[in-house]
Amino acid sequence: MKYYNEKIETLPKDELEKLQYQELKTLVTRLFGNSKFYHDKMKEAGVSPDDIKSISDITKLPFMKKTDLRDNYPDKLVCVPHEDLVRYHVSSGTTGKPTVVAYTKNDIELWAEAVARSLTSCGLSNKDTIQVCYGYGLFTGGLGLHYGGEKIGATVIPASTGNSQRQIELIQDLGTTAVACTPSYFIHLIDVAKKMGIDLNKDTKLRTAVLGAEPWTDEMRKYIFEMSGVTAHNIFGTSELSGPMFSDCSELNGMHICGDIAYTEIIDPKTGEQLPAGEKGELTITVLKKEAIPMIRYRIGDITSIIEGDCPCGRTSPRIDRLQGRVDDMLIIRGINVFPSAVEHALLKNSFLTSHFMIEVSRKGPLDDMLVKVELKPEAMTDSINGLIEMQGITERTLRDALNVSARVELCPPNTLPRFEGKAKRVTDLRRL
Ligand code: ADP
Ligand code: ZN
Repeated sequence: MKYYNEKIETLPKDELEKLQYQELKTLVTRLFGNSKFYHDKMKEAGVSPDDIKSISDITKLPFMKKTDLRDNYPDKLVCVPHEDLVRYHVSSGTTGKPTVVAYTKNDIELWAEAVARSLTSCGLSNKDTIQVCYGYGLFTGGLGLHYGGEKIGATVIPASTGNSQRQIELIQDLGTTAVACTPSYFIHLIDVAKKMGIDLNKDTKLRTAVLGAEPWTDEMRKYIFEMSGVTAHNIFGTSELSGPMFSDCSELNGMHICGDIAYTEIIDPKTGEQLPAGEKGELTITVLKKEAIPMIRYRIGDITSIIEGDCPCGRTSPRIDRLQGRVDDMLIIRGINVFPSAVEHALLKNSFLTSHFMIEVSRKGPLDDMLVKVELKPEAMTDSINGLIEMQGITERTLRDALNVSARVELCPPNTLPRFEGKAKRVTDLRRL
């Protein structure tokens, strides 16, 4: 099956815009009438539902930020009666105090529908067995993929994170064809399988990985394929939107944000102006149909761009490029902006390196100092000092060329850097401590 919901996923653009407008108008009218938070926010911005006459009028509406959720912790933004709530989730709290998300029955249904469409666009169906190795619990990853997987009729294994040997055994014993987890956990699973003497390509049915919750790169996709024969797809979401929701398709070229569910904008982080397709800025999403805690023009804080042109897969919803990381993940090293994902991209150009790396930033006198520790592949390990110096030099040069700033490199033996079951924590910024 190519699409989960063909009619809506291939809706002509003008019809999609009409639908988006109707949804937005209904949403704004409801919130203006029944929510103090949204009413006050719109009043303050001098806008009322009457001002929304087309989808492009969305720019008249005020933005929402994570601070709105934090300031209204735990549930002051909920705008349905408590009887209508069926679930709470809480975000990972990567950048500060966690935020609470509440769901009605329809919100859960909408979320599962988005994930079902995404899994189908990754090529999965009721023939697949999907092992969900995202954390089950307050984090949205586990249950999000679980409900979406069941919706497409796949057989879902709620493995959650951890106990990696057991994960590999399950992959073998239950004939798992797809795994969903963070990219850093997946590369850990590849290593564990190898140590157990299992070749994921030859000894298992695993062919697809649906990876998200943290930034990763196309180089990582290639690395994963070479190491395991698994095709890695990218899935994205945040708890505020509901959880993981939108993924790439068979083209592996950008994630489709289902247009009837969410409206996508890219915003200049400084001016708040909407940017055209192709230009990088802050991802801003309006979930058009959320009931419990609607998100209007939510500034997610991740940097990306809308990919220009139609996708050959036939889906008409806009595609966003890989997320480089959040505005606040960005390191400023001697005045140059550096995203950890760009470090990964550069490192994996060297076939002797793995994707296990850590970044340590400190200040040496007046200057910022960046140290990149990265593990060598076992077959690249050598006792030859000259060999090591040469690989170190090559790595430092690739980093300098890619980042426009120099970094010191420490090559580490295999299996010496930390592994992550959930989101990887790769950066220690000693300047901030
Ligand atoms: P927290 O904000 O506390 O980490 P979430 O668990 O909701 O809570 O995480 C959402 C964030 O995770 C996104 O804003 C984004 O930074 C990151 N993220 C999720 N999926 C991806 C992805 N596929 N690529 C890059 N970053 C991602
Ligand atoms: Zn596509």
